[in-house]
Order: sequence, then structure tokens, then C-alpha cells
Amino acid sequence: MDPLYVILIALAVVLAFVVLMVRFRRREAEGPESTAAAQKSSLAARLAKTREALGGRLHALFTGSMDAVFWEGLEEALIAADVGVTASTEVVGRVRQRNPANSDEARQALREELIRLLGLEGRALALAGRPAVVIVVGVNGTGKTTSIAKLANQMKARGLVPLLGAADTFRAAADQQLRTWADRVEVEVVGGQAGADPASVAFDAYQAARARGLDVVIIDTAGRLHSKSNLMDELSKVVRVVGREAEHIDEVLLVLDATTGQNGIAQVRQFTEAVGVTGIVLTKMDGTARGGLAIAVERELGMPVKFIGIGEGMDDLIPFEPEAFVDALLEDA
Ligand code: GDP
Repeated sequence: MDPLYVILIALAVVLAFVVLMVRFRRREAEGPESTAAAQKSSLAARLAKTREALGGRLHALFTGSMDAVFWEGLEEALIAADVGVTASTEVVGRVRQRNPANSDEARQALREELIRLLGLEGRALALAGRPAVVIVVGVNGTGKTTSIAKLANQMKARGLVPLLGAADTFRAAADQQLRTWADRVEVEVVGGQAGADPASVAFDAYQAARARGLDVVIIDTAGRLHSKSNLMDELSKVVRVVGREAEHIDEVLLVLDATTGQNGIAQVRQFTEAVGVTGIVLTKMDGTARGGLAIAVERELGMPVKFIGIGEGMDDLIPFEPEAFVDALLEDA
């Protein structure tokens, strides 16, 4: 072959390689940013009901003049989104103190003050024990079983092996429901006979996880609304019995349905008194205009929201991130 052809072909190959490398590098550089942007807009989409209700009111305010009606309207808009009276008054007071010169500055100050209010520590799931013990409590229908399945699925994705304890022995269907989800996620379940002592089922689940050297045991518990004091006694026995054996309970997560609004605050109080809740899983944030409850719970009870439920799919339980949350809420403001 003519040496000139060989040189030309070699040059073409080198050129093609360089072009491919440049494209690859560019895509790599753009990757995380565009992923973050996509996640952001998907969170805003899931929080549409709260975002539209709150954003609609705020937008109307921010386009008007900043008089006494403005400040009153701001507080009312936050209260209507279930941010809670205490938190709403506090935030508006702080924004006002900053003396914003125009509505852009007021919007920015509102964003910062809402994020500041969500400044609690310890939002990440604590999983120090081996097995780590996560007890999940909450009223029936709040999304306890599905949240447990979603959590187990996430743990598996992190390379951990969880085991589920079906300690809701009160409802015959509860055990079956948990097993159905467990099959989907491919995790093992330890349960007991209907009516068995929940604390003993939880104990067995813990023992099984420890004997097998597993990473986490997640214990589902009963959440019937009737005979509340019995329920609280039962739950505190579960925590006590497992705690004695494990010496350390990593998390007691309370699953709270965001659509319950301010009533949810009372639920958190009750469960916290009985079983020392360590964090909240706030479900059904996609189905309510009351998503501000996350802020009320943290401000009024000093209890971190660790996860939010934003749909019925397996991936629809996400860590609660204050900045992303506030930005999603204020997107239409
Ligand atoms: P449990 O009785 O507390 O165990 O509640 P389940 O886990 O059975 O959930 C009750 C219903 O709420 C089910 O239909 C779930 O799919 C639904 N659910 C749970 N979490 C969410 C969520 O974040 N968003 C929506 N839209 N539905 C949810």
C-alpha cells in the first residue's frame, strides 16, 4: 500500500479517537449536573399539590406590594400548607427582620429561613449495630409495610442484607402483606402465629438475623387505632425486649401520613412518649397540599424527617433533603 495512504488512515483513526474522547469527557462532566437537575424537577413534580397551592399564593403575593397585607398573606400561605403556626410565624418574623428591599429579596430570604428551620442533625439512618435494629411504628394505613419494603430494597442496593420481622400479629393480613412485599424485594421474613406475642416475634427476628450474621433487622409492628394504650404498651414491650437483647436499638421510625396534616403532630407526640421515636418517615407527600408538615414536625417536635414517600413505586421513598425540598416547594413562587 502507498505509504501516503497508510499515514492518512492512521491520521483518520487518531482523529476519530480524539473526537470520541472529547465527547466522552464532555458527557462525563455534564452527567452529575444534569442528573441533579432531573432529580430536582422530578421532586418538584411529585410535590406538585403543595407546590402549586403554596406557590400560587406566594406568586400572587410576590407580584404585589410589600405592605402589611403581604406579611399577613405570607404567614397564611405557610399555615395553609401545614407548615404550622409556630414555624410560620417564626419564619415570617425572620424574613421581615431582614428588611428585604423587594420581592426578589423576600423570596430569597424565605428560602433561606425555611432551610434554616430544617437544620436538625442526624437525618441519615443510623445502622451501627450488627445486626442493626430498625423498629417501624405507626398507625395502620400510613404506609408502614410499603415503606419497610422500600427501605429494605434500598439497603440491598447498598449491599446490606436485611431481614424483616412481622411483629404485627394482630391483623392476620399484615403478615401476608409483608411477605408479599418481601418476596418482591427478595428478603427473608420471620413471623409468628396470629395473636402471638409481638415482642417474642420481634425477639425471634432479631435472633435469626444475628445467628445468620445479617446486617439489619427491620421490625414491622401493629398500628391499630383502637385501644391505644394497649397498643403503646405492646410497642414499648417490643422495644424493651429487643433492646435488652440487642443492647442498642438503632432506629425507631414513625411512619406518618402527610395527608393527616396537623393531626400528625399529635400522633408523633403519642408514639414518641411511648417508644422514643428517632425519626419520621413522612409518606404520601405526592398526594397532599399539606407537605409543609415536614417543617412543622421538625420545628415543633425537634424530630428529624429522615425519608419522604413520594409515590407507590419501589423507588418512591427518598432521603429528606431540606434544600431540595424547599427549592421544590418554592419553584412556582
Ligand atoms: P400500612 O397499613 O401502614 O402498612 O400501609 P401500607 O404500606 O399498606 O400502605 C397503605 C397504602 O398507602 C398503600 O396503597 C400504599 O401503596 C400507599 N402508600 C404508601 N406510601 C405512599 C406514598 O408515599 N405515596 C402514595 N401515593 N401512596 C403511598
